[in-house]
Amino acid sequence: PGNQEKHQFGAEVSRLLNMITNSLYTDHTAVVRELLSNAVDAIEKQYDTQLVKTASGGEMDDIANYKVVVEVDKENGILSITDNGIGMTHDELKSFLGTIAKSGTAEFASAKNKKTNESETMIGQFGVGFYSSLLIAEKVAVVSKNDNDPKQWIWETDATASFHITEDPNGNTLKRGTRVMLKLKPTATDFLEHDKLEKMMKEYFGHKRHRIYLVKPKTITEEVPDEEAEAEAKEEEEKKDGDVEVEEEKKEKKPKTKKVEKTIMENILISQGAKPVWTRSPSEVKLEEYEALYKKLSGDKNGKFMTHTHFAGETALSESFSAILYIPERPPFSPFSQKDQELDIKLHVRGVFVTAKLQDFLPKYLSFVKGVINSDDLSLNISREILQNTAELRGVRKMVLKKTIAMMNDLAADKDKYKKFYEAYSSFIKMEISENEDNRSMLAKLLRYRTTKSGEQMRSLEEYIESLPEAQKTKKVIYYLAGKADEVNKSPFLGRFADKGIEVVLMTDPVDEHTIERMTKYEDFKFENIAKDGIKLDEDDDKEIKEYEEKYKTAKTWLDKALKDSVEKVVFVPGPANVPGSFKSSQFGWTGNMERLIMAQSSVQEDPMLSFFS
Ligand code: ADP
Ligand code: MG
Repeated sequence: PGNQEKHQFGAEVSRLLNMITNSLYTDHTAVVRELLSNAVDAIEKQYDTQLVKTASGGEMDDIANYKVVVEVDKENGILSITDNGIGMTHDELKSFLGTIAKSGTAEFASAKNKKTNESETMIGQFGVGFYSSLLIAEKVAVVSKNDNDPKQWIWETDATASFHITEDPNGNTLKRGTRVMLKLKPTATDFLEHDKLEKMMKEYFGHKRHRIYLVKPKTITEEVPDEEAEAEAKEEEEKKDGDVEVEEEKKEKKPKTKKVEKTIMENILISQGAKPVWTRSPSEVKLEEYEALYKKLSGDKNGKFMTHTHFAGETALSESFSAILYIPERPPFSPFSQKDQELDIKLHVRGVFVTAKLQDFLPKYLSFVKGVINSDDLSLNISREILQNTAELRGVRKMVLKKTIAMMNDLAADKDKYKKFYEAYSSFIKMEISENEDNRSMLAKLLRYRTTKSGEQMRSLEEYIESLPEAQKTKKVIYYLAGKADEVNKSPFLGRFADKGIEVVLMTDPVDEHTIERMTKYEDFKFENIAKDGIKLDEDDDKEIKEYEEKYKTAKTWLDKALKDSVEKVVFVPGPANVPGSFKSSQFGWTGNMERLIMAQSSVQEDPMLSFFS
């Protein structure tokens, strides 16, 4: 073309380009993310500009007309991304695509100095994303048309130090918008594979409200008239000619057809083309929508989950933060599993997927939670692959943890539901309580036990405390006994408590005793294991014990001698009439229950409980 202009990129550009293309992005799929982000931003700008125009009486474009289309030209090795957003004028092409770290989007946003309610937050900010295209392309052409420029222009670079801008010889084919065309490097032909493209596009943009399409070939079978068969049939008929009945048959005869395979191009909708579920108000979202999202996130075909929580709106951290968290119907891994579990929470920033690898985001034993988070205010690093600000992330993590625990707490309102939840997840909670001090007090509220007064019902520690007589309340003690379910009920240790009407918490899960030993306290109530020595129930105890010691002096001297090698000491304490005596462990020793568990562990080396107790 005659009127081609040649421009040099801004200073240091070649070196910068080299740096960007080789060290900024860890993953080449980032190119798709960056170019689609730009297309989506361009649509937002157009939408925003339209809003302003309609405010002064102009006509509004239908939002449904906005779209981004991705196409592949396999023969020529070209990937192209076309949007009907705002487009760029000649000068904008020169400035926005010719200067590294110049972001037309950031300028647009700051000129507005606001986020309009209807437009989504724009993604671009650093002015480098476009150049990621050079990771996979040996040549890049950008065709663009903006309302403020009567002409359509082509911007081109072959990844050297210069770029060209030419008037498009084909005229204004784009009405308005931009097409970015990448002539792929021979090493990047992956980007010509429709299935791979579809997967990466869905990962990043699956939830955008914009319509993003991939043009993909599809093989269909078509019925077409079969002329050969038709001719044969005719011949046949002619042979039989003269028969009267044939006339009748002829009427009913369908024309002969055959099946033909044919490839058509199909526009596949990548994004959902609607506001993502989590940004909507929870009261507007139907159960089926939560189920559909759960299906997508978990890969679980039936889409059933135990419970979920959805919070959207402003938080202390973020003007716009939203999340949906789920607890699966069944735990996706065992609490005794030795390997670290990968967390299944997908983080989006400004609607674009960023990462599912949120390291240590939730405590180890709570990583069965699945979900999705979006924040419009988290700051990303320049490659937009990782979060920049760890303090921000800590804040988000804290909130998510709080909401996760609240979600489990809320289940308690429905006893049957909670029972199901507790059966499936109590070991996870107990493990977390044992291993991690930080969240103990919050998680302890989830614990449930039978007690000597609850029958088959399970009680929370809170309920236990509330029903205590005043005297025990002021002592601030929770009495408990751990052991096998069929043993605790008839334990001799319980007798004295029954006599005095004091409730005892019964713990029958093998991990219970260990968990309580780690906890030591619930709120300001101390746990006391009644299988251990030294428990005094009330003031009368001291007096009675003294009396007993006097009364049974001779027996004690004899027993002391006889049991010298087996027990630490012999104590005479008041007890129920039908129990002559029992063995207790010392304050710091193992109870019979604990000893039994540990013995069982050491005989089965592979048992994961072993590591739990070590
Ligand atoms: P960023 O998106 O962070 O601003 P980029 O390097 O991705 O940086 O893009 C630079 C600028 O080029 C954008 O800010 C925008 O002004 C312009 N631009 C890029 N792609 C398009 C497009 N498809 N339509 C309109 N403008 C675009
Ligand atoms: Mg960008």
